[in-house]
Amino acid sequence: MAIRLQNTLTRTKDLLVPGDPARVTMYVCGPTVYSRAHIGNARPAVVFDLLRRLLRHEYGRDHVVYARNITDIDDRIIAQSIADGVPIETITARTEAWYLADMGALGVEPPDIAPHATTSVPAMVAMMQILIAKGHAYAAEGHVLFDVASDPGYGSLSRRPLDEMIAGARVEVAPYKRNPADFVLWKPSTPEQPGWESPWGRGRPGWHIECSAMIAESLGTTIDIHGGGLDLQFPHHENELAQSTCAHDGAPLARIWMHNGFLKMGDSDKMSKSLGNVVGVDELLAQGWHGEVLRLALLSAHYRQPLEWSEALLEQTKKTLDYFYGLLRRSKGVADIFDPLYAADNESDLSISLSFQLALEDDLNTPLAIGSLHQLAHAVGASLELDLSDPHSVAGAVLAANRREFIRAANMLGVLQSDPNNWFKGDGDSSATDAFVAARTAARVAKDFAEADRIRDKLAASGIILEDGPSGTTWRRA
Ligand code: AMP
Ligand code: ZN
Repeated sequence: MAIRLQNTLTRTKDLLVPGDPARVTMYVCGPTVYSRAHIGNARPAVVFDLLRRLLRHEYGRDHVVYARNITDIDDRIIAQSIADGVPIETITARTEAWYLADMGALGVEPPDIAPHATTSVPAMVAMMQILIAKGHAYAAEGHVLFDVASDPGYGSLSRRPLDEMIAGARVEVAPYKRNPADFVLWKPSTPEQPGWESPWGRGRPGWHIECSAMIAESLGTTIDIHGGGLDLQFPHHENELAQSTCAHDGAPLARIWMHNGFLKMGDSDKMSKSLGNVVGVDELLAQGWHGEVLRLALLSAHYRQPLEWSEALLEQTKKTLDYFYGLLRRSKGVADIFDPLYAADNESDLSISLSFQLALEDDLNTPLAIGSLHQLAHAVGASLELDLSDPHSVAGAVLAANRREFIRAANMLGVLQSDPNNWFKGDGDSSATDAFVAARTAARVAKDFAEADRIRDKLAASGIILEDGPSGTTWRRA
């Protein structure tokens, strides 16, 4: 058990040594819920879902606590609510449901804890009061600002000189700031804007303090792993680090800081809404790409490397999964006979192939792990060539054992979760339909009936009929 992860804080690949191996803690900055996730947003969700699976494998399922927040206070949300003429809660409930549905279709399990900014405001106010009392923050004109000069460690994560950080953060030079690099923890709200009462008047929190307060509240002072995309390194994570360390008398916020590289498409270096070069997860699913194809494509490059998103990548990945599912289908008959013989040892022995495990333990080297999965697949293929006329022969046992090893590794990556027969019938994609049904239910709960109807019509157009009953909604093919 030796997981090494590239730590942005130390710039080295560090051995993960959890503070408490019985409670390994991981926090990943979650979505700001104002618009539907694009496939670039799905990269951190899938990468950290995989890391969580590896941690659970190594430390035990009940010994990993994963928190991913929902940022449901933000000026972009306010702007979206004004643009659509609907309440903020409608925007945030709908977008969160979309996010869970889209990520669910990619095999991303919900986190153990999903703190929401709107329900953590008291924890943020408390943290700001501590920062003010310790001389790391000050109130001015209804704002609370972090005093960057009071923190000698400021800049240690992104390792940028202060002048570059000021330029990078495009900070507002405001008269109430002592230093242009000081960043906002709290700002006043107009009567129309959402706001909370505080010692500094009615207002709302800045983005960075949300995560610092939610981490402390949901996981503790020092966590084992903190993750997010490369764009969060500065200013978001630098500021989280400053707030938390200063509030907690120098205790580190995270032992390991991880950052995934960008998914890009076309000429630009990053798929992003502001550049207008995005493709939604829902759009890709609607085009007929199975969630497992998207997931495996996202894992095909190492998480720190850029990933070029293209139709060719999806086609290639689909071919790989067709090949894998073909092996599963062809080997099923024999395995059904032999697997019961292994049932006892199945229970106790959940080991996975060593080369596969070592690849993931080495800073989540997914290209190598997928290579190893291919080798396991070849072994299944080779054992299918053996004489299997007597299903009780050793050859049958070899096939069943190889098949099981192959499936366990695939499970860890979160693929090969469909019935092989359904995969080839093209209707193995119930996860995507389930996800849409969940999104529609959420829209109905949020009383966004227009959205609920839109989802129902969209499913109807692809031949899925919804039936609402007393215990929820079920679906069938027309
Ligand atoms: P946002 O909702 O914009 O805060 O983004 C949610 C997460 O997606 C953050 O961890 C971002 O760093 C990450 N992210 C955004 N765009 C990309 C991209 N093109 N490639 C990889 N990660 C991204
Ligand atoms: Zn954060």
